[in-house]
Amino acid sequence: METLLQPEERVLSTLNKDGSRRWMKPRLSVGRFWKARRIAAYLLILIFTALPYIKINGKPAILLDIIAREFTFFGKTLLATDTLLLALFMMSVFVSVFLATALAGRVWCGWACPQTVYMEFVYRPIERLFDGKPGTRPKPGAKGFKKLLKHLTYLVISAFLAHTFLSYFVGVENLRHWIFHSPASHPVAFAVVVVTTALMLFDFGIFREQTCIVACPYGRFQSVMLDRSSLIVGYDKKRGEPRGPIKKKKGDVSLDVLGQPQGDCIDCKMCVTTCPTGIDIRDGLQLECIHCAQCIDACDAVMDRIGKPRGLVRYSSQEALEGRKRRLLRPRVVLYPLLLTVLLSAFVTVLLTKSSADVRMIREAGSLFNVLPEGRIMNQARLRVTNRTSGPVTYSAEVVSPERGVVIELVPPEMTLQPNKMDSMMARVIAEPTLFTTSPLDIVVRVHGTDEFAREIHFPLHGRIWHGEKP
Ligand code: SF4
Ligand code: SF4
Repeated sequence: METLLQPEERVLSTLNKDGSRRWMKPRLSVGRFWKARRIAAYLLILIFTALPYIKINGKPAILLDIIAREFTFFGKTLLATDTLLLALFMMSVFVSVFLATALAGRVWCGWACPQTVYMEFVYRPIERLFDGKPGTRPKPGAKGFKKLLKHLTYLVISAFLAHTFLSYFVGVENLRHWIFHSPASHPVAFAVVVVTTALMLFDFGIFREQTCIVACPYGRFQSVMLDRSSLIVGYDKKRGEPRGPIKKKKGDVSLDVLGQPQGDCIDCKMCVTTCPTGIDIRDGLQLECIHCAQCIDACDAVMDRIGKPRGLVRYSSQEALEGRKRRLLRPRVVLYPLLLTVLLSAFVTVLLTKSSADVRMIREAGSLFNVLPEGRIMNQARLRVTNRTSGPVTYSAEVVSPERGVVIELVPPEMTLQPNKMDSMMARVIAEPTLFTTSPLDIVVRVHGTDEFAREIHFPLHGRIWHGEKP
């Protein structure tokens, strides 16, 4: 039967030609980069686990309280209303990622992303412990038991990670309380932990490298964030080709079976079998490459064995691998740090100059003003206050300009707010009609707090223009 549609030679490194999953069992290459990555990975895991327990100014180092819409970073609490600060913070994070990529390629993917860190330094070592090295066959009978133990270990670690993850959103005190009480007393939190544990089991046990290859948006953005001078993991074609096993040696030159000089690549495929995403680095820069440097460690070991200099596969740039000088100074390498400096300076300035309370006076919907029976003019508003201190504060207000003829009546007359809480009081501003030579009339209200807070705010008071008629 004629085949109408032939499959592509390679659609995805983790797909077989028939569309089935090609399961990766990468061989571990213990080299200088792997050792450095292992130190970085365990340090990051330690930081991730410890951060919710660390207190700064009596607050957790990081607490993202979505329900209360309060976000605490290293002792400072931002509220959902801090849109400028949150926007500056998010923009700084994005520009930092752009800068890191322009300078060091996918350094985040290979060295710091939780997906790589936990996959390669927690789940993969457990897998190797129970399944043995790639290619080894477990003893008959031991397979099922070992598989069960492996998955139980995955479950325990995933549950621990899910609890740690949840503590960033609810705080360790709440989490500790919940752990020792029935799930029925906190069903939502319990459901979050169960779903997060299941997602981690799925991700690290089944989906694995697919997250980097098909799901992660950062991986997809690589082609626009990298340029030809960015640091990448690359194969030196000039030095490696033509590849093939060494048959003879003439001095330093390797010769193939026909006596023709050949490159340094002996085509041992150690760089391929060690790759966690299943690609061949010798095919050039690929989207699937997470820059984990396992192929560098594998090839360096081969070069050591055959007495050739290391670095056939190395950290380099596309232009350096093509034999041109790598340009360190490029527009994006200058622009990104400048932009980042501006954003971070703005963020720090706004953060440090924030006062101990946010105050707003908002006019009530409806008529602009009412004329009271005795002829005075009343405007209705709400005085909204947010307490940004770390203790309770009582707030009240008075009119300071004009000095006479205008009063503010608050309902209730004063209001006590807990830290980071916001509330409002009804404000009735009553003015003598003779003041309205223009409308609106600009008045100044001073808001006081028992923590010595004082802020003057302007409010436009509406009324009927006074033409000298008798009230
Ligand atoms: S490990 Fe080095 S020598 Fe072996 S195939 Fe890869 S690039 Fe060639
Ligand atoms: S090609 Fe090399 S650096 Fe890229 S993912 Fe594979 S092993 Fe890691």
